[in-house]
Amino acid sequence: MSSERNDLVAKARLAAKGAYAPYSGFHVGAALAFEDGSVVTGANVENASYGLSLCAETVAVSKVLSEGARGKLVAVAVAGGKPGERTPIVTPCGRCRQVLHELAQLRGADPVIWCAGDEDVLEMRLSELLPNAFGPAALD
Ligand SMILES: [Zn+2]
Repeated sequence: MSSERNDLVAKARLAAKGAYAPYSGFHVGAALAFEDGSVVTGANVENASYGLSLCAETVAVSKVLSEGARGKLVAVAVAGGKPGERTPIVTPCGRCRQVLHELAQLRGADPVIWCAGDEDVLEMRLSELLPNAFGPAALD
């Protein structure tokens, strides 16, 4: 495993510790790496009204955009699960793929997505996870 991948997955695992997930008990962290070397993380935030819950990737993207950052997204790591239990590979949900696409398209990026489990990391490009995506260009 590359050190870049290991480092970003480790940051996602650390971010998962900040999850607020009293209902599912499923703690997820996301780490977004940018071309300038900066990394922004997020964790899932659940709500008693379940449908209002936010995924880790959406929280991270919201942090980036709300702080005015518009850097080129080069890599994303997602990791998580139920603490103390063996966890499978965690992939971004459909909504988060769309949210990540919006951020990536600001700079024409197709970031690598590292979806981590306890033992394996699935590596895919965002364009593979969300082919033929609808994005900002469609509104031009
Ligand atoms: Zn999601």
